[in-house]
Amino acid sequence: MRRSLLAAALVPLAACATVPSGGISEGALRQHIAILASDAFEGRKPGTAGGRATEAYVAGQFAAAGLSPGAADGSWLQRVRLVPQKGDPVLANNIIGRVRGTLGGGETIVVMAHWDHLGLCRPPGARDRICNGAVDNASGVAVLIETARGVAHGQRPLRDVLFVATTGEEMGLLGARAFVANPPVPRDRILAALNLDTVAVGPRGSAVSIVGRGMTGLDPVVDALARSLGRRVDAGRGANALVRRQDGWAMMEAGVPAILVGGAYAGGLLERFLKGRYHQPDDDVASGLVLSGAAEDADLHVALVRALADPRRFPTAATPHPPANHALDSATNPH
Ligand SMILES: [Zn+2]
Repeated sequence: MRRSLLAAALVPLAACATVPSGGISEGALRQHIAILASDAFEGRKPGTAGGRATEAYVAGQFAAAGLSPGAADGSWLQRVRLVPQKGDPVLANNIIGRVRGTLGGGETIVVMAHWDHLGLCRPPGARDRICNGAVDNASGVAVLIETARGVAHGQRPLRDVLFVATTGEEMGLLGARAFVANPPVPRDRILAALNLDTVAVGPRGSAVSIVGRGMTGLDPVVDALARSLGRRVDAGRGANALVRRQDGWAMMEAGVPAILVGGAYAGGLLERFLKGRYHQPDDDVASGLVLSGAAEDADLHVALVRALADPRRFPTAATPHPPANHALDSATNPH
């Protein structure tokens, strides 16, 4: 069992070694989700064989996508001790990759998604014991990996970008809390964080909403960029009902502006998922995935990372920048 898990984890996907010219494909996302949400990964519970296979898979995919190791010790792994559980503490890892920006200076944009899920969630003898977490959150990790590939290829971003697959989200945002408590760059150099969670529920064309709207200075950048890509924008704040239920909240509590952006959070799409397959064994690939919106959101995130990484488009007090005739120059400083 372990051997086959590692084999699945360590072989990079040949089909994902190149960057598609027409944007991020549903097929690339589906390949990641099919592996991460397979029964072989046992529901990706931290500290289990399935959890370790997930960590190895994400690190391998980050490397194949063109990232460099981003943890403070120069590796891919930030060790996290998970303690709110019954019984002994569990050791697991955040996986961290980096794209160095051309500016230097250490200003950093973070993109994150939690890799963990619930593992074996039904008693022995149950027809299906595994909560596979295909939508929650293999889909977010798939978008994270492909967003990383999109940012790592082509023109380098100006600011540094960290890609973080967090552990322990399902146990109380623990991996995100560990990351922001001890980040590999000074916390006050992290200008913005984009979280990706439960993205595979909306079709292409869904309006872009922001979980955390009105709570950071990031909204103008997101709204202008989404519109420039032809996306509709939901300017309401209904999606903020989810703000404490995702890793971005741990960042916000530590003073880092953090939002969850995409087409899954408006129009009742996510509510339907939460009332149905959420945290059930049938959040699996066999129950069907809607990936057209996830692919569109992945393209949005590649562009959004580049915008936030550009001091002309997302100015801060700390970064001197030349005036530029750019549509996003109205973006405000979150600090
Ligand atoms: Zn969950």
